[in-house]
Amino acid sequence: MKIHEYQAKNILKKYGLPVPNGIVTEKPEDAAAIWDKLAQNVVVVKAQIHAGGRGKGGGVKLAKSKEETIEHAKAILGMNLKTHQTGPEGQLVKTILIEEGNLIEKEYYVGITLDRRISKPVFMVSTEGGMDIEEVAAKTPEKIVKEIIEPGLGLQNWQAIRLAFALGFEGDMVKQCVKILHGLWKVYDGEDCSLIEVNPLIATKDQKVIPLDCKINFDDNASYRHPDQAELRDIAEEDPLEVEASKFNLNYVRLDGEVGCMVNGAGLAMGTMDIIKYAGSEPANFLDVGGGANVETVTNGFKIILSDPNVKGIFVNIFGGIVRCDRIANGIIEAAKNVEITVPLVVRLAGTNAEEARDILVKSGLKLEVATGLKDGAEKIVAAIRK
Ligand code: GDP
Ligand code: MN
Repeated sequence: MKIHEYQAKNILKKYGLPVPNGIVTEKPEDAAAIWDKLAQNVVVVKAQIHAGGRGKGGGVKLAKSKEETIEHAKAILGMNLKTHQTGPEGQLVKTILIEEGNLIEKEYYVGITLDRRISKPVFMVSTEGGMDIEEVAAKTPEKIVKEIIEPGLGLQNWQAIRLAFALGFEGDMVKQCVKILHGLWKVYDGEDCSLIEVNPLIATKDQKVIPLDCKINFDDNASYRHPDQAELRDIAEEDPLEVEASKFNLNYVRLDGEVGCMVNGAGLAMGTMDIIKYAGSEPANFLDVGGGANVETVTNGFKIILSDPNVKGIFVNIFGGIVRCDRIANGIIEAAKNVEITVPLVVRLAGTNAEEARDILVKSGLKLEVATGLKDGAEKIVAAIRK
């Protein structure tokens, strides 16, 4: 689950990190009072959306007077902010954070995430802060310094010191940085995060080290341990189809291809996406209808898939292990009565009672093609779309 910058900063504050003072609002008319309350010479008006790259898109602006603060608040609230992470459709800004401004000497990058290859968290820092870290990783990977964290031990002091030195800090700023790194690790560990990014961490002109931006993603698998995190969710920031699918308990992730996929089991769903690419097309989604697929899940699956205007065909790929294929076949026929399937449909059923299921489908009179295998299915749906 993703959260907003101001929510992430509240968490950092709770863990004792030195974040800038700021006030959140949804109303431009609050801007003047916030300027007075912060009592600074410079403030920053920051769009709160779940995507990064807001600065470049015009969603982060410095203001040196009350008038300017009001002006930026008016401009940013309600704007459709486009960044490299929102995609071309952009994201509506409903909330802004107005924060005390800082005089920046230098910007750094700090992040913690899980390295799945080694199954351990990895701490990353770079002197190339404020920039797109993916670009730094691609062009100058040597500028990212890493420390692997032993999950049972946590961030060790020598590791924090090594990272602070890698950023080039000296004297008291090493101490400030080390304290922040330890704090970030406590947040990552304590809140069961899957990602923390502070980009930029800054050194100010008066030698203070401050996290100026913060992005936190929580690991949803651990949400049962953090009931309080649920109220930080902002559904308006999420893909409406994914929200709808989660209501039906469907594991759905929207992608940008044209072949809608309905599959049982995450592994088979991944394999299905691969084989669609292999057959020359792109999957429109990942959809795992789960082990106990029935009429209801199949119907809901079709509804969700067909709500995506990019879908030009549907490939149903079900393995009858826990569930029998004939039941799925009848499920598809029932579902087709509830949802009008407006695009070509290819069904591949394998496993228990697969033959029987194929007969049921062929005799149903439904407009669909039955595939004999994974590859055959993928080729059939791609050919049907191309027709
Ligand atoms: P992002 O573009 O979504 O990552 O948003 P950030 O919060 O990282 O802000 C973008 C950029 O705005 C930063 O990299 C800074 O260069 C600049 N910025 C943000 N806050 C301040 C501030 O208090 N003072 C100054 N001078 N610049 C700031
Ligand atoms: Mn940033």
